Amino acid sequence: MEQKTFKTSFQIEGIGLHSGLPSVVTFYPAKENTGIVFEKDGVEIRALYDNVGDTQNCTCLKKDGATVSTIEHLMSALYIKGVDNVCIKVSNSELPIMDGSAKVLLERLNQEEIVSQSAPKKRLIVKKTVRFEDDKGNFIELTPPKKQGLHIYFKIEFDSQIVGTQIFDADITPTLFANEIAPARTFCEKYQIDYLRAHGLIKGGSLDNAVVLDGEKILNPEGFRVKNECVNHKVLDLIGDMYTAGYAIEADIKAYRTGHFHNNAVLKKLFENKENYEIAED
Ligand SMILES: [Zn+2]
Repeated sequence: MEQKTFKTSFQIEGIGLHSGLPSVVTFYPAKENTGIVFEKDGVEIRALYDNVGDTQNCTCLKKDGATVSTIEHLMSALYIKGVDNVCIKVSNSELPIMDGSAKVLLERLNQEEIVSQSAPKKRLIVKKTVRFEDDKGNFIELTPPKKQGLHIYFKIEFDSQIVGTQIFDADITPTLFANEIAPARTFCEKYQIDYLRAHGLIKGGSLDNAVVLDGEKILNPEGFRVKNECVNHKVLDLIGDMYTAGYAIEADIKAYRTGHFHNNAVLKKLFENKENYEIAED
């Protein structure tokens, strides 16, 4: 299998979640071994785990005074499309939130032609178990894959009955991604929104780009889009964050109540020791 890029340049437009301002993203084909590179105000930032500067509410790249935030849903869609190389110029430091999931992004990427390049695709195969656990017992573990590809087990537990305990346990395939993972939206509690609004954030937030829960109620009139939408969204974020390894990762991943911070921390641990992984070229 060869590395891939887009055949021609194209744009995606939306608004930033926090700023509420327009965000225009322009994709340019890139040559072999470029990776996924964002460009903001003339600063190029490769979408790599060691350029991640903030994991508070999203995965945010920072370098030389430039910031590109909320990259995870796009990274997830680029991973599943098998895109290795692309330069992405952004007009706003936040990527557009779109519908709060990767559904619209994936549909847009599906319209673009993706072409093979001359260099072989590189895959990162996990060789030794790498685990990161926080002081609350939440953990993520990467173990050597039982078969080629990415398998994810993810468990979340919430006090509310409407979310409760949700488990995702499956091989990540393009079909499963399109049907069950990409449509899963960001979710939050109403009190969190009230707090963020009071602090001048999420100016672009609405029921069109998030699932909002209020105790045992869902405020979105349409309800949930997919079964176990909340854990599936965590899987969407995880896949995107794992792509900041700079390679398509092959591993069995087990995650318990984790988020962007843990995803970044486990990648840092993975790269601490070359014996933890192997880079394969097809
Ligand atoms: Zn997300």
